[in-house]
Amino acid sequence: MQIPREEFVPTDLQEQAFQDGPLPIGFGQTISQPYTVAAMAEALRLSPSDRVLDVGTGSGYAAAVLSCLAAEVHSIERIPELAESASQRLRRLGMDNVHVHLGDGTAGLPAYAPFDAIVVAAGAPELPQPYVEQLADGGRIVIPIGSTSTSQSLYRFTRHGDHIQSEDLGPFSFVPLIGKHGWPDDDLSWRQTE
Ligand code: SAH
Repeated sequence: MQIPREEFVPTDLQEQAFQDGPLPIGFGQTISQPYTVAAMAEALRLSPSDRVLDVGTGSGYAAAVLSCLAAEVHSIERIPELAESASQRLRRLGMDNVHVHLGDGTAGLPAYAPFDAIVVAAGAPELPQPYVEQLADGGRIVIPIGSTSTSQSLYRFTRHGDHIQSEDLGPFSFVPLIGKHGWPDDDLSWRQTE
């Protein structure tokens, strides 16, 4: 309730901002369904002192929700226009503990590691190894993984020392995670149609 979701969707879709569904945000991407954001935030088991890596900033909505539950959020987006508008929006709303970065989030953000929680808003073919390397002991990764780029199971990985525990949290559908440790970037149609 603290986050004005209407501020994170295109002006002509603001009336739909409080429906429980995803909405288009341009460049072939979507703002996640509120239920999905809630399920992922809950699965992260956050503490107020946690440092979070949020992969796939999109509109910045999930980062804004996480910023109320954790100490610091580093959010990374690969599409420059989305990163820029999310960064401006979060600043305007006074969310000073969120930092938006531009780049391939499948590599994580080694300069800001370790993270207590890593959350990925796009579907991966497998768990990117950099996330394991950048996860603090006791840390959690919540990530959709699937063998096709559009249907996934949501997984939670928890680090216990050198052991990584894996849990399947059920089926979800996300846009693909595109990058070095994700799906190849063979669809540039979003660039041509926008
Ligand atoms: N959390 C966002 C959801 C956006 S959809 C929100 O609340 O609005 C997922 C986002 O992941 C898209 O914006 C997409 O461009 C981005 N993405 C896909 N692959 C990525 C990668 N390798 N690194 C960073 N962002 C990526």
